[in-house]
Amino acid sequence: MERSPLSLAQSLLRCPSVTPEEGGALAFIEGVLKEAGFEVHRPVFSEPGTPDVENLYARYGTGEPYLLFAGHTDVVPPGDASRWQYDPFGGEIHGGELYGRGAVDMKGGIACMMAAALDFIRANPDFTGSIGFLITGDEEGPAVNGTVKLLEWAKGRGERFDHCILGEPTNPNQLGDMIKIGRRGSLTGRIVVEGKQGHVAYPHLADNPIPGMMRLLEGLLKEPLDRGTEHFDASNLEVTTVDVGNPAANVIPAEARATFNVRFNDLWTPHSLEADIERRLREAAGNTVRYALTVEPTNAVAFLTPPNDFVGFVADAIKAATGSQPKLSTTGGTSDARFIVKHCPVVEFGLVGQTMHQIDERVAVADLDRLATIYRKVLDSYFAA
Ligand SMILES: [Zn+2]
Repeated sequence: MERSPLSLAQSLLRCPSVTPEEGGALAFIEGVLKEAGFEVHRPVFSEPGTPDVENLYARYGTGEPYLLFAGHTDVVPPGDASRWQYDPFGGEIHGGELYGRGAVDMKGGIACMMAAALDFIRANPDFTGSIGFLITGDEEGPAVNGTVKLLEWAKGRGERFDHCILGEPTNPNQLGDMIKIGRRGSLTGRIVVEGKQGHVAYPHLADNPIPGMMRLLEGLLKEPLDRGTEHFDASNLEVTTVDVGNPAANVIPAEARATFNVRFNDLWTPHSLEADIERRLREAAGNTVRYALTVEPTNAVAFLTPPNDFVGFVADAIKAATGSQPKLSTTGGTSDARFIVKHCPVVEFGLVGQTMHQIDERVAVADLDRLATIYRKVLDSYFAA
């Protein structure tokens, strides 16, 4: 059976696995990996209020070290399929590019991981370590019945991973641009300032909450949170909305609300950040502004996989296959890596992200071959070390 990255990617793209549908994608992976000698499990996780989700865990070998490939087969909906040049679930190739929802995010990446692992095992059937796949069907949706539970499930079975590669599309423009060695954390907070409603012509009988809200927001924004660290940009607090909802020009409103989100680096924990935000608001409010702050619970904590041998293997493989020295970055949104890092060091490297979640999502066929070559080289150096 042909197991090129391209044919694997085409088969995966033809599975309509829009979250939470399995769509045949995990069944396909199960078949291919089993044939290659992997032990494969398909745990289904449930949670009240969310759809049941299928997942896949596979392992080849029993020894150490254990390198884990992680990813997701679920995809975001294609949107209006008639606006696509080609069927979003057709896996068609045109002009050297493979089209389909998930081409880069991230069925293409999974296909490359599979092709690399199968090729490595064929060439080294008696290698002493283990290669695993941790594939969820719940990354693009609520992300409740996916990676977190799958990791806990594996841990409960006694599985211990040494390193992980997550195949999200990390490259902004060209294959080889960027490895993610960490991610910033995310914290959302809401402020309510209490006033007293009244007639604008009689302000002494009212209490306008808007000037108070302005003072609080100014207090939040006046000093930078930090100046960044060796591998992280400066943390950033962004006010995302300020709402009074007052349709009348002659009424002083009773209440003002604001929401902010912070993307924070490794100088902070959610707890220390919340304490600093509280301090800023307290100082800005003085004795005059009556307000309440609520901070949403977050599981998005900043983390860093320090540039070590493992990151070096990945960077060297990229350099050898593409000629570019990848940037070691911690930019962008959150990813499932924030959950994996609690179990083992993780780096993220995959395809070029330009068309992810877009109409006509596509990947250059040449990139699939090169990414498979990169993963293959990582396996070589990892198990040779
Ligand atoms: Zn993704």
